[in-house]
Amino acid sequence: MKELIKQAAEDLAAARNVVALTGAGISIESGIPPFRGKGGLWERFDPMEIAHIDTLMRDPAKVWKILVKEMKEIVDRARPNDGHKGLAKLEARDKLQTIITQNIDGLHQAAGNTDVIEFHGTFAWQRCMDCNKKYETRKVDISEIPPRCECGGILRPDAVFFGEIIPPEAMRRSRQAATDCDLMLVIGTSAVVQPAAMIPVIAKDNGAKIVEINPERTPLTDQISDYLIMGKAGEVMNRIVSDLQKII
Ligand SMILES: [Zn+2]
Repeated sequence: MKELIKQAAEDLAAARNVVALTGAGISIESGIPPFRGKGGLWERFDPMEIAHIDTLMRDPAKVWKILVKEMKEIVDRARPNDGHKGLAKLEARDKLQTIITQNIDGLHQAAGNTDVIEFHGTFAWQRCMDCNKKYETRKVDISEIPPRCECGGILRPDAVFFGEIIPPEAMRRSRQAATDCDLMLVIGTSAVVQPAAMIPVIAKDNGAKIVEINPERTPLTDQISDYLIMGKAGEVMNRIVSDLQKII
C-alpha cells in the first residue's frame, strides 16, 4: 500500500485538473450509514414507498415521521472526517477542482470544498414545497411535524426522491468535469448505480488516470481503475496528503 500511496501523491502532483467522485463510503466514518447494505435505512424501510416523491406529495407528515426526522438527527450531528478534510486540503493546494458526490450530507462543503456537484441534491437544506424558500436543515425546528415555511408551506429535503430526475445541471456539469479532468479519484463508491457509473468511464475515455480508494475491490477495479488503494477513505487520504506535501 505504501508504494501506491506514493504513486497517488506523484500522480496528483503531476495532474493539472483533478476531479473526485465520492459515495457513501467516504461518510461512514462520520457516522452516516449507507442507505443500501448492512445497517442501512433501506433494510428497515422500502425506499420505493417511503422515499418516493408520490408518498411525499400525498403524505408529507408520514415521510417526515418515518424517514426525514431520523435522517435529520443523523446529518445534524455528522461532521467531516479525514476523508472529507483530505479533499479540502487538496483543493487548498490547487490539486482538486471539483467533487462530484452521490452523498446528500453536505459534508464536503462543511469541510471547505467550494465546487461540489450533488447528483442527488442535498439533505443539508430543506425547501418549501410552495415557495421554494430554503432553510438550513440543522436550524429547522421539528417540534411540529411536518415543519413549515414562514409562508405556511411544508418543508421537504432539497434532495432527489425516487421518482424524481437527477438535476439536469448536475448531470451536465458532471459530464463536463469528467471529460476535462486528467486525474479522477474515486472514493467510497463502487459506482455501479447510474448515473454515477458513467462518470469514471467518461473520464477514462478522455484519457484520465483513475485512482480508486475503496475498502474492497469493486467492478471498477479491473475494468476502469488504473489502481486501487485498498483502505478506509480517511486513513488513505491522510497518507496521500502527507506524501504530497513532501513533493509540492
Ligand atoms: Zn414557503
